[in-house]
Amino acid sequence: MTIAWLVLALGNSREHAGNDGYDDSPSQHYSWDSSVQNHARVAVGDVIALWNRKELIGLSVIEAIDTAIAEKTLYSCPQCGKADIKRRQREKPAYRCGKCGHLFSAPRQKTRTVTTYRSVHGKRWMNGRGLLSASELRALCDAPKSQLSMRPARWERLQQALLEVTGQAGTVKDIAAATRLAISGGHRESLVRVRVGQEAFRRQLLREQGEICAFTGPTPAAALEAAHLYSYAESGEHRDHGGLLLRRDIHRLFDLGHVAVDTASGTLDVASSLHHYPCYAQLHGQPLAVQLRPEHEVWLDAHWLSQRPRA
Ligand SMILES: [Zn+2]
Repeated sequence: MTIAWLVLALGNSREHAGNDGYDDSPSQHYSWDSSVQNHARVAVGDVIALWNRKELIGLSVIEAIDTAIAEKTLYSCPQCGKADIKRRQREKPAYRCGKCGHLFSAPRQKTRTVTTYRSVHGKRWMNGRGLLSASELRALCDAPKSQLSMRPARWERLQQALLEVTGQAGTVKDIAAATRLAISGGHRESLVRVRVGQEAFRRQLLREQGEICAFTGPTPAAALEAAHLYSYAESGEHRDHGGLLLRRDIHRLFDLGHVAVDTASGTLDVASSLHHYPCYAQLHGQPLAVQLRPEHEVWLDAHWLSQRPRA
């Protein structure tokens, strides 16, 4: 029996410390780690269906799964241990727990070794936007009320539902033909690994945002890099809008924590160690050059937390 996985591409806010899909391209990749239930059961040849709590995003067959070992820092409330903490912009102490209301100056930090997983599934991708609603998707799962970010679903029923709404069998049959069942049944084909590299991500951001450094303003494309913001986050949000274009020097200083963003005021915070360099000093307190999305703010707050825990 072919196994289908319904996976949440919109993070479960602060509940899951796992990487609920921090990837820039849902049609190519899905990422998770060993803090997520069912993490090790997903296999090459399984169907993967991504959704965002509202609707199906799309589905495909997993061609490969890349694994790695990573150290993960978890931040939590020193009183109740919950991860639902918020940095306050002006008041001291700087942090407030969203669960118990405790105020504190530095979050508790814990390092954990996790296995990270990243699926490669671009080859058979079928866009699913507008095809199946959240309640229709839940009904296809073994446990419709499950809250898990990776939950098993019945491929036969998912396939049937898709055939009914699309009325055209081609793509769905393509997916069925490439599943684990088909592979083990002798229809093995050479699986092409598709990688969406840094350059593709940068070009996508240039198309969306234009030749502009998010922190400093208009900049020629040759001097712009894609900064992956989601790598700073411990809890998931939507993987789209996971990057900003930054001037090369600004990107480096941002990665080092010398430049950060105060999301409450929407202004840049330049570390005092840079204040004797006029070109950076003048950026301190300046508004950003682009309008931030809520996803950006979550990630920029996470960046602040990881780079300026005592700020
Ligand atoms: Zn607390």
